[in-house]
Amino acid sequence: MKGERVLIFDTTLRDGEQAAGTSLNPNEKLEIARQLESLGVDIIEAGFPITSQGDFDAVRLISKEVRNSTICALCHANDEAIDRAWEAVKRARKGRIHVFLSTSKVHLTYQLKKSATDVLKLATSSVARACKYCGDVEFTPMDTTRTDIKFLYEVLEGVIDAGATTVNIADTVGYSIPSEFGRLIEGICKNVPNISKAVISVHCHNDLGLAVANSLEAVRRGARQIECTVNGIGERAGNAAMEEIVMGIKTRSDQYHLYTDIDTMQLYKTSRMVSEFTGFIVPQNKAIVGNNAFRHQSGIHQDGIIKEANTYEIMDPKDVGVPSSALVLGKLSGRHAFKERLLEMGFSLDDDALIHAFKSFKELADKKKVVTDRDIQSLIGEEMRTASEVYHLDHVEVSCGNHSMPTATVRLIGPNKEILADAALGTGPVDAVYKAINRLVRVPNQLTEFSVNSITEGIDAMGEVLIRIESGGAGYTGRGADTDIIVASAKAYMNALNRLLVQKRTSRQVENEP
Ligand code: MN
Repeated sequence: MKGERVLIFDTTLRDGEQAAGTSLNPNEKLEIARQLESLGVDIIEAGFPITSQGDFDAVRLISKEVRNSTICALCHANDEAIDRAWEAVKRARKGRIHVFLSTSKVHLTYQLKKSATDVLKLATSSVARACKYCGDVEFTPMDTTRTDIKFLYEVLEGVIDAGATTVNIADTVGYSIPSEFGRLIEGICKNVPNISKAVISVHCHNDLGLAVANSLEAVRRGARQIECTVNGIGERAGNAAMEEIVMGIKTRSDQYHLYTDIDTMQLYKTSRMVSEFTGFIVPQNKAIVGNNAFRHQSGIHQDGIIKEANTYEIMDPKDVGVPSSALVLGKLSGRHAFKERLLEMGFSLDDDALIHAFKSFKELADKKKVVTDRDIQSLIGEEMRTASEVYHLDHVEVSCGNHSMPTATVRLIGPNKEILADAALGTGPVDAVYKAINRLVRVPNQLTEFSVNSITEGIDAMGEVLIRIESGGAGYTGRGADTDIIVASAKAYMNALNRLLVQKRTSRQVENEP
């Protein structure tokens, strides 16, 4: 008995992207959307079209390209925003307009400065307008958990009468606790007379670390859609994490008697992709997708696992697609074996990209005896980043030490294949490299974050550098991986600069469009 289905509504590209410092370009958003589609996400909230041309373009592009998932566009409860949302999703095979409006007393009094009657009218008329365009309309009474309960029932009844097919109960500020949130859902089921005509959705934030717990309690009490993000990224402490929701429902189906259509074997891969693109590192101890999620340290546990996995493992790591860290390939492996391994891991590269990736793999295998799946993943990430470069890092060389002046020489290949070279001094080798690159690329920016992590164990491990730069009020992340952390730092910086340049270029193109 599978029970009823819970719809998975992913808002990584909207609420997740809204999180401080993330900035994805339309093509990166499309890549993520394609992966979400392949993962089996029911509804993809692709953006908030009225807020920027970039968001509008991304939603329009995703609507055109992604055919299996419903594509949703967010809008305020006003005509212009609703029209713009529709304009962005109208080409989707399955489109959805998502209207939101605050209903809590504190928001009404201080933010909207409107009476309850006005808010009710605005909510229903906005939903009615959206319904004229689209048969699939979701309404969110924002800050639901702090809304007067009688007024909430009235609003929900009103918007469902106006045509809303999904009503989303939002714990916008992450204040609720499971027992209370569950009662709220139960109350809605009992007290909103026309509730059977709509799907109840929940949108929980993690300010108290309860987003997943609240969402799971809600489905036990009658909700059938959960809004979540990959890795739980989102405003402040983030949203409910999709991988935790999905594995919670699956692992404890004995309690929930529910299921989702998510292909759990792709959870790990999706998590890495989102982390890669947004620059949000997955914490080591993150449930389901963290590096330590399936590592056993205690001797008693290890002993048990060897005898029978069930002793200390409630989930099989294979079920979420965690790659094994065993030796998979070495320096004698051929291109065919490499390609096969990539396919098993879910990467299909075209011929040119494959030749290039194979060359990088051989170089890595020369430096590092053991090449694991995680190394290969990082290498493919590197390949994906270089595919969309404006400037390519061709050569980097540093000299440093305790009695020398750190000096860097860099050579870049520019947008017209021109070769650019320069050198600079710095306070340290990374500083010298960045200064030399700045002399060539000449984009004013500030480095705001810099971190180095090792991808696998061992002294010959690949180092991964993550940086964040700011320019013109926007933040851009960059990543780079190499066995040499100075080279990884240079790659990360080039990656951030390239993102910045591509973003500037696409926003210019858009302005020129009719
Ligand atoms: Mn939110």
